[in-house]
Amino acid sequence: MKFGGTSVGDPKRISQVTSIIERHLPQKPIIVVSALAGVTDRLLELAQIAPQGDLRRVERCVQALRRRHRAVVKALVKKPAILRSALQALDEKFRELSNACYGVLLLRELSHRSLDLISSFGERLSSRTLSAALEERGVPSSYVDARRMIVTSEDHGAAHVDFKQTDPNVRRTLRPLLKRRRVPVVCGFIGATRAGVTTTLGRSGSDYTAAILGAAMSAAEIQIWKEVDGVCTADPSLIRDARVVRHLSYHEAAEISHFGAKVVHPTTMLPAMRHNISIRIKNTFRPDGPGTVITARAHRSTPLILSSVDDVSLITVEGTGFIGTPGTILRVLQIVGSKGINIFMISMASSEYSLSFLVRRTDTDRAVKALEHELRYEREVEGSIRDILVESPMAVVAIVGSQMKGRPGISGRVFGALGQEGINVVAIAQGSSEYNISVIVRSSDMKRALQCIHKWLHVEPERKPAMKPRRLAARL
Ligand code: ADP
Ligand code: ASP
Ligand code: MG
Repeated sequence: MKFGGTSVGDPKRISQVTSIIERHLPQKPIIVVSALAGVTDRLLELAQIAPQGDLRRVERCVQALRRRHRAVVKALVKKPAILRSALQALDEKFRELSNACYGVLLLRELSHRSLDLISSFGERLSSRTLSAALEERGVPSSYVDARRMIVTSEDHGAAHVDFKQTDPNVRRTLRPLLKRRRVPVVCGFIGATRAGVTTTLGRSGSDYTAAILGAAMSAAEIQIWKEVDGVCTADPSLIRDARVVRHLSYHEAAEISHFGAKVVHPTTMLPAMRHNISIRIKNTFRPDGPGTVITARAHRSTPLILSSVDDVSLITVEGTGFIGTPGTILRVLQIVGSKGINIFMISMASSEYSLSFLVRRTDTDRAVKALEHELRYEREVEGSIRDILVESPMAVVAIVGSQMKGRPGISGRVFGALGQEGINVVAIAQGSSEYNISVIVRSSDMKRALQCIHKWLHVEPERKPAMKPRRLAARL
């Protein structure tokens, strides 16, 4: 059972979490928890402040976090022995956090390593807090540091898990606790290299921690408890009519999470899929709802789901150099990839005259500079590359679902809806698996695009597309 940051944001919410855990005791749950809402962001800010050398400011930030955590523990725990030991444990962690920040401050340098260490404290503090809250309610519980179990690569910020070492570690650590009927509370998001250096699994990585542990323990189910009723047909904070989807396949869930639906972290599906364990997304604040179940099977009844990624740039490289020359595509993508820049959508027309791809807005300058530098011969001497164009800020809206496969007319509906709304589609891509159609629109059009596609797909399903698919294809 993994509880997200919102679910453990304050004492009242943590009480709700402890009562859900109590109800699940017969199933011997293993608990994974995120940092208290907002804490990881505060820690990342703190890490950025430290190298500026302002000791007073750093201390103020650390003290604010300390006060928040102490207040939460004091509100939840009244038994003196449990309270004393919890506050002591928190203080030890705060001493370590202060020391880490002080080190960064002295060196005036924030390495990826230090950043991971500093951001690890959110989960270490929240899990110790939740464990104390369970003890207070008479539920025997043990705080478990994930770094004892999860062995990762040295890729700080988004480390890869070494399952060969991790799986036996998990079993060795958690089995004895379960045998003694103790509830393990494990900090999400973090791991350690083989040499014991702290790493993190990427933002929102606690979902992944839950899947890693669930898979290693052959759990009956991996539950992700959030503040939404499950995976919805679109982000409910953007689309009021979005409704909960009951079933999803791993494949569909991976597609929507890659395309920005923050409801479940993209890598979560991998361990679950490997061990064929279902993932259930549930609402901490409406625990009796069925939630969404993610399994290997795709259901015909699963509706299409919309997700979106904002703040991206569309980079287009154009010129005759692409025509009949497969090496050019590879070269362009390699130039961008070699800078560690993630490309998350590619679109190329069959005329082979241009290649367009998406990068995060923050990576745009670096990508363009690298392309301009590496392709200067092709541009200036050979003339095979004519231009490198950037359109920004853009957004991707993706329509995902297995029911799209082999069913004509869906892209027609999507483009019909966008056309009627007067939204310009800048580029499109469809995976050949037919699970995903992605359209690129201007950022300022994103919300309207989501709304009108959602309405067309889900609210007025029997309306005819504005244009017959064949006519539309001819026009495209
Ligand atoms: P946690 O506290 O567990 O970290 P988040 O803050 O990550 O929770 O909450 C999940 C968020 O994901 C919700 O606030 C919701 O707006 C957003 N979201 C985006 N797309 C979807 C979707 N398709 N279904 C449900 N929620 C979604
Ligand atoms: N606390 C981390 C974050 O905010 C990890 C998580 O919440 O899953 O990204
Ligand atoms: Mg989160």
